[in-house]
Amino acid sequence: STGDIKILLLENVNQTAMDIFKNQGYQVEFYKTSLPEEELIEKIKDAHAIGIRSKTKLTANVLKHARNLVVIGCFCIGTNQVDLEFAAKSGIAVFNSPFSNSRSVAELVIAEIITLARQLGDRSIELHTGTWNKVSAKCWEIRGKTLGIIGYGHIGAQLSVLAEAMGMNVIYYDVVMIMSLGNSKQVATLDDLLSQADFVTCHVPATPETKNLLSSPQFAAMKDGSYVINASRGTVVDIPALIQAMKAGKIAGAAIDVFPHEPAKNGEGLFSNSLNEWSSELCSLRNVILSPHIGGSTEEAQSAIGVEVASALTKYINEGNSSGAVNFPEVSLRALDLDQQNSVRVLYIHQNVPGVLKTVNNILSNHNIEKQFSDSRGDVAYLMADISDVDIIDIKSLYEQLEQTPYKIATRLLY
Ligand code: NAD
Repeated sequence: STGDIKILLLENVNQTAMDIFKNQGYQVEFYKTSLPEEELIEKIKDAHAIGIRSKTKLTANVLKHARNLVVIGCFCIGTNQVDLEFAAKSGIAVFNSPFSNSRSVAELVIAEIITLARQLGDRSIELHTGTWNKVSAKCWEIRGKTLGIIGYGHIGAQLSVLAEAMGMNVIYYDVVMIMSLGNSKQVATLDDLLSQADFVTCHVPATPETKNLLSSPQFAAMKDGSYVINASRGTVVDIPALIQAMKAGKIAGAAIDVFPHEPAKNGEGLFSNSLNEWSSELCSLRNVILSPHIGGSTEEAQSAIGVEVASALTKYINEGNSSGAVNFPEVSLRALDLDQQNSVRVLYIHQNVPGVLKTVNNILSNHNIEKQFSDSRGDVAYLMADISDVDIIDIKSLYEQLEQTPYKIATRLLY
């Protein structure tokens, strides 16, 4: 029953998550910080689910002590802190929150477009340091200007709507064909976008293909006096090439939120990493807005992350639905109708080898299989089956038979 489910929440995970778990009737143990490894190992032994952020390292050494763990929630974007493969092979699904902060990023970019167009960053620094400098030369309204969005995904599409509402023309380039929102238009090539846009903003993932997507040839292809914005990933814009293009007067301003080598903690500067040898040159340029990877950092995004991850965990615990898992086959069926008598949902995680389904279906064959869905990812496969005509006294034997199958990783029966 849900009252037996134990959730361990670390690192001050958002209150919205707590509320969702409490509503389910789960037992929740909450900590404001991460735990030292020995304590973590002690606490994780009984937990069915654990919620963490970036500081808790769920290594194989920690996870091997987790006897009851079925799911891990990373209440953040990154999942490097978890040994994803070990988790999958142990039958533990991992979820994160990739899209909860899309709106926050899109709003920041809108602010940056206006700030660059009005040289607002420079005027503010000047007045903070004692200089009144009232200018209108090379300061522009954004109405009627063209915004070029590279990558029309969650953030790019959201930004498109906001920019049009302020009177901008929007064009976008993406590797896939995507239906345009509003009056925006997809262009066929990156060069088409670069030659038409007054503002170019990047919203692509970090991949080998997007490394230095904007470098010297791309800056050369841009309009004179145009602007560059990057709040995607630090690998996407070649910063030394950007510095050259700005010094040459080709690019009139840039807003950079993400860097190839970001400081690990607050209080450090870009300068503290010797790999950022360009940092003093970048900082000396005019009309350059630098921000410490804060595109998605808002109170709203934090609560949305709490809701998104806690809902995914709840669905996985209550229904076995693994859609959106980062390390695991994605399997889902409509919620089991628990009012319907004698129905059981079988959740069976197993090694991805031939012959398993034959064995399993043989075990289920005395009952009526209403629905079944199976998928695999790497070495791990996941079968979900809703069966009916199951007497309550059969459930234990069903479970034991499934547990004894040779390639089993984990079995759960929901009824
Ligand atoms: P998304 O997956 O929804 O969209 C990415 C889009 O880029 C997709 O439409 C994809 O088809 C397209 N794309 C992929 N490769 C491409 C290429 N080579 N050329 C053109 N288009 C390409 O992602 P999203 O949620 O919109 O996030 C976009 C980026 O923003 C990601 O890199 C993400 O990590 C980053 N992000 C940054 C912050 C921040 O704090 N600054 C916050 C959230 C997300």
